[in-house]
Amino acid sequence: MLFSTMGLKTSKEKLQTVALDAERMRSLATWTARSLETEHPVPFGAAIFHGQTGERLMRAANAVGKENDPSSHAEVRTIRLACKKLKGFSLKGYTLYTTCEPCPMCMANALWAGLDRVVYGATIEDANQFCRQIRIPATEVAARSDMTCSVEGPVERELCLTLFTHPKMKKAFRTWSKQR
Ligand SMILES: [Zn+2]
Repeated sequence: MLFSTMGLKTSKEKLQTVALDAERMRSLATWTARSLETEHPVPFGAAIFHGQTGERLMRAANAVGKENDPSSHAEVRTIRLACKKLKGFSLKGYTLYTTCEPCPMCMANALWAGLDRVVYGATIEDANQFCRQIRIPATEVAARSDMTCSVEGPVERELCLTLFTHPKMKKAFRTWSKQR
């Protein structure tokens, strides 16, 4: 009896996590979409939330073009800014949300930061239809590491894909491919 009650609680908690992940991803996609009206439109946004308190620690978008820095991916920037805010290098206990599956650089950074979970929207394969990618799944990067990090997705994939198919991005992707 005790076990079945515990089991019920666990599945209820899982459902709550799924709903919360979807809600946070929708909110992140909406926030990321704001960049589409700026000089540097990007489909990549990321946010870090505390696993227990639910507090949002940091949120940032890709700024490769804005900062002329090829490592300024949304996830790397969010992790960097979050650690600066905490004045520490560990993000243990936190979850990273990102509108697109992290590339190997970003996933490695998430592992080095000790994040508990990474939740992504669109897949690397999705993004690869629009721009160049390094085609190594985030789950594979995590599996080959000594760190434990749960990689979950895609979550709200269709919504996150609309960031890539937006007319403002069409021109931006063309510019990116010319510069590379
Ligand atoms: Zn990346």
